[in-house]
Order: sequence, then C-alpha cells, then structure tokens
Amino acid sequence: MLRSEVRTATIGINEIYPTIQGEGLLAGTPSLFIRIQGCNLRCPWCDQPSALSFKEEKKSLEELLNIISSYPHRHVVITGGEPFTEENLHLLVKELLKMGKSVQIETNGTLWQEGLEEVANLIHITCSPKAVASWYIRSEIRKYAKELKFVVDEELELKDLLRFEDFLKRSCVVLQPEGNKERFVKKALELQDRLLSLGYEVRVIPQLHKFLGLK
Ligand code: SF4
Repeated sequence: MLRSEVRTATIGINEIYPTIQGEGLLAGTPSLFIRIQGCNLRCPWCDQPSALSFKEEKKSLEELLNIISSYPHRHVVITGGEPFTEENLHLLVKELLKMGKSVQIETNGTLWQEGLEEVANLIHITCSPKAVASWYIRSEIRKYAKELKFVVDEELELKDLLRFEDFLKRSCVVLQPEGNKERFVKKALELQDRLLSLGYEVRVIPQLHKFLGLK
C-alpha cells in the first residue's frame, strides 16, 4: 500500500523508454530511461530540446511506478531535462529503491533537493558540469556524485577539469566527445594524456548507444 504522500504525488515526465545506458561509467547496462520534463539551463549543443520546457501535464507517481514495474529492467536512469527540477524526485527515487531497482540520476549538478541525503549513497549520481553554469556544482553533488562526465567540445579546457581535483584523484572522471565527432575524440584523447602526465587517470568514453544505433 502506497503512503498518501506518494499516492497523491505527480511527476513531470517527457518520455519513458528502454535502451542501454550509452554514456559514462555504467555504459552498456540495460536501462529504463525516465526523462523528466524541464531544465534550468540551456546548453548550445543540448540533444534533448523536447525535454527543456516545463509542461503542465504530469503523470501520477503511482501510474509511473506501474509503468516501470511492467519492464524487466533492474537499472533505472532518471535524466532530463534536469531531474532536480522535479519537486517529487526524492519520492520517485525512494519508491524505486523499495522496488529493488538500481537508480542512476543524471544531473547538471546545479540543483539539489531535501530528502535525498538519506538515500544519496544508495544511488549512482552522474554529474555533468556545464560551461553555461560556469562549471558550478552544488556541495551536495560534490559530496555524493559517483561520477563526473564532461562533454568535450570547443569550450572545455584543461583548467576547467582541474577545478575538480577531488574527482580526478578518485579516478571517476569521464570525457565524452560531443556527438562522437572526430575532432572532439582527438581533443578528449589529448586532454586524457595531459591529465595522465599530471598523475590523473580519466576515461574517454564516446556515446555507445549511438554506435549501436539505439536511442
Ligand atoms: S543541462 Fe542537459 S538537458 Fe539542460 S540544456 Fe544542458 S544538456 Fe540540455
């Protein structure tokens, strides 16, 4: 039986679909993607323009959980848009954990939500800092994120990466060439070499789902 708080909650969803996780440290994992509606930033190369605006129409959390349980996937990726713009994100995460799901949140790192601290160590938070936010990330994200993923484009420079020494020391930084373009693959490999010479090991991981022709 769902608690009344959960029974009455709604979630702004852009889309739900099964695929594999194509990015970052968990690449290759069969995953159910829950794309939250709305984002607080506007990155120039954003590949999810349909998820950027906030729409009035929402799904009840109960209905969403029923949809999720109709899929066999253990791993659920909550992405966007920006998941932290959804005020009931913490309720969704807690219900998914109760269902025995492994939960990943992909965030730009600029927002946080009360109520997530108690489960933050049980989930995989992937933070992708953004140039449009001057690479700012919240202290809670810095504390709980298990992975920092940087899109390598014209703008990203070594000095931007060096702001995140705590993550570099833990070897949990991923460089993702924008759009899998050749010039950004080359740049990512150069950045990897430069970081290696400074004593930091980072991974270069292109978008695997695109190679496989998946969404
Ligand atoms: S933070 Fe993500 S969803 Fe938002 S504009 Fe940037 S790339 Fe798009």
